[in-house]
Amino acid sequence: MACDFYQLATPGAQGLHPYQPGKPVEELERELGIKDSIKLASNENPQGPSEAAIAAIQASLSDSCRYPDASGFKLKQALSAHYGISVDSITLGNGSNDVLDLIGRAFLLPGDEVIYSQYSFVVYMLVTQSSGASAVVVPARDWGHDLEAMAAAVTEKTRLIFLANPNNPTGTWFSDQAMRAFMAKVPENVIVVLDEAYLEYVAEPDYMSGLGLQNDYPNLVVTRTFSKALGLAALRVGYAVADPAITDLLNRVRQPFNVNIPALEAAVAVLGDSEYLQRSVDLNRAGIQQLEQGFTQLGLSWIPSVGNFITVDCGCDAAPIYAGLLQEGVIVRPVANYQMPEHLRVTVGLPEENARFLSALARVLKLTSGKADTL
Ligand code: PMP
Repeated sequence: MACDFYQLATPGAQGLHPYQPGKPVEELERELGIKDSIKLASNENPQGPSEAAIAAIQASLSDSCRYPDASGFKLKQALSAHYGISVDSITLGNGSNDVLDLIGRAFLLPGDEVIYSQYSFVVYMLVTQSSGASAVVVPARDWGHDLEAMAAAVTEKTRLIFLANPNNPTGTWFSDQAMRAFMAKVPENVIVVLDEAYLEYVAEPDYMSGLGLQNDYPNLVVTRTFSKALGLAALRVGYAVADPAITDLLNRVRQPFNVNIPALEAAVAVLGDSEYLQRSVDLNRAGIQQLEQGFTQLGLSWIPSVGNFITVDCGCDAAPIYAGLLQEGVIVRPVANYQMPEHLRVTVGLPEENARFLSALARVLKLTSGKADTL
């Protein structure tokens, strides 16, 4: 009889549901036989990569026969100079997903508890489950983190807490003051991971990066990415900033060559391209306004977002609307897997992409509400 390999797997792997990425444009076009579709589904940067990053990638290609620098010396130096952080506090990852995974591998055992919020980034659940630890999911408040309830959920078994500021998929955020009050309540032997994947987009005066709190709270790990405002999602570069002992542990479980040469070079280049970042942020701000105006005209409500995406309330099952948008060649992100079956998350695109999405949405809503009337 054939072996049931599922039985051989760890309980963590057995129970996992794989990450569902946004649908690739090529897949949609293959399936529907259409062309010129747009993807507003993965919170990518719509303006293309920085010219400086492209030049650095091209220049690095002749080194493709070499292994990358396993220590990522040059990028760590650049990050250190750019943000005033020490080199021995940085762990580089193959995207920040990799860093989140390293944290789980370094710190979690079956029986440990991991706290995160309802409606928070799905990778926290994947990291928790794959290690065999138990998730403690704290109900959200107004779609965002209820930091008071999260602090109150800490038990002797709590090993890790994941926070996202801003949060994906809701785009909510919390203030520096709220974060300080939270950290003051969390025991020093509980690792708090603050995921700042979307920080560059936030303009709220009360918003602060967690980097400034790490002297007071060495148990605070900040994670960041080059995939969003810095426009390098394909290359997979992210990093954690943490206490040197935590950093040492993360580097022990890290694969030595986890960030490739073009990625290392492009990341250094884009850090020096402040105009690119400013354009990303400006384009995003205008795009958020454009989408909000469009939703208002369509009579839809949305969750106010400080990220590069907005989650809109369809006021009915969002699945047929998602499917209708696909027919129109517009890919957005269903969030039913986040227990938000009536919402769709849309990434801010170029102005013309936002306009195309809004007019497709208007047509699809009309069609689906027409169907509902005839039922
Ligand atoms: N954190 C959050 C909150 C995210 O939304 C994402 C990307 N969707 C990531 C981390 C991971 O991004 P990457 O691995 O590309 O750095």
